[in-house]
Amino acid sequence: MSVAKEVQLIIFDVDGVLTDGGLYVDDDGTPMKKFHVRDGLGIKLAQSAGLKIAVLTGKVSEVVHHRMNELGIEHFIQGSKDKGTDVHALEAMAGVPLEQTAYVGDDLIDLPAFSKVGYPIAVADAVAEVKDAAMFVTHARGGQGAAREAIEHILKAQGKWDAVVARFAG
Ligand SMILES: [Mg+2]
Repeated sequence: MSVAKEVQLIIFDVDGVLTDGGLYVDDDGTPMKKFHVRDGLGIKLAQSAGLKIAVLTGKVSEVVHHRMNELGIEHFIQGSKDKGTDVHALEAMAGVPLEQTAYVGDDLIDLPAFSKVGYPIAVADAVAEVKDAAMFVTHARGGQGAAREAIEHILKAQGKWDAVVARFAG
């Protein structure tokens, strides 16, 4: 049995988790996405506290590549056709067993990954089946701080959150 306390790797879905699921497309067909700045800081804080972060998305876009680089996320897979298989690839890339891995998702395509990881997390506005399969459901919706909340939840369970906050309190 795995709990938040044992998580060493957090894998995030992109659309509907790091974004609100909206897909902006410009006149040239280039997709644009809106990320939440507090999720970004949360990811940086998690990394500084020793957690590994990965991203797994079914779509492919330059904008995701840019955001991953900006956040220093080395382990990410775009264009995933089967998330249940690709979590094993991320397991190998990050060097953390899936039993010690959290996966944050919002839709049915995430369920194969949910069944592989030790700590599945759903965002507040995930579909019912995903929320039912999750061990933790955030209060925040996808793209509106859900990733930050998931990170905070895990760091608190590990007793690391106060030290993170203390760095900013001066
Ligand atoms: Mg999604």
